[in-house]
Amino acid sequence: MAALNSNECDQALGAGNVEIAQAALRGAQIFNISASGYSVEGLSVGVTSAEVDGNTIYLATNFYNPASPIPGAVLGLTPIGLLQIQTGISTIDAATYQAIVLVHELGHILGGLPDDSQGGSSDNTKTIINACFSYLLN
Ligand SMILES: [Zn+2]
Repeated sequence: MAALNSNECDQALGAGNVEIAQAALRGAQIFNISASGYSVEGLSVGVTSAEVDGNTIYLATNFYNPASPIPGAVLGLTPIGLLQIQTGISTIDAATYQAIVLVHELGHILGGLPDDSQGGSSDNTKTIINACFSYLLN
């Protein structure tokens, strides 16, 4: 993934270099979960696109349908729309959204991002965008 190929991104993730970051992504176990069967304390069911536990990444329905309304969300809010509100990025496609989510979760696996199970997820996403996807900030 091209986003990993920068020192600033690897530092933010907690990887020493791009090889470590890429190896962690390759080594991650990835499982799919349905949004309806998923809940996180303190968060609305279905808003989350991914969670990480150890080196396992769980991808929810919203990860795969980032341009579709979040189940139960007001005003047809989509995962991409939520990310745009949180970050101020004006345009983002589904593949880029998914890359941002995966790199965010990689930051938890590698320890560069603090735990955000009690809040702070959007701050972590901003960190990832600034370090790894800065070309989106215009
Ligand atoms: Zn997070």
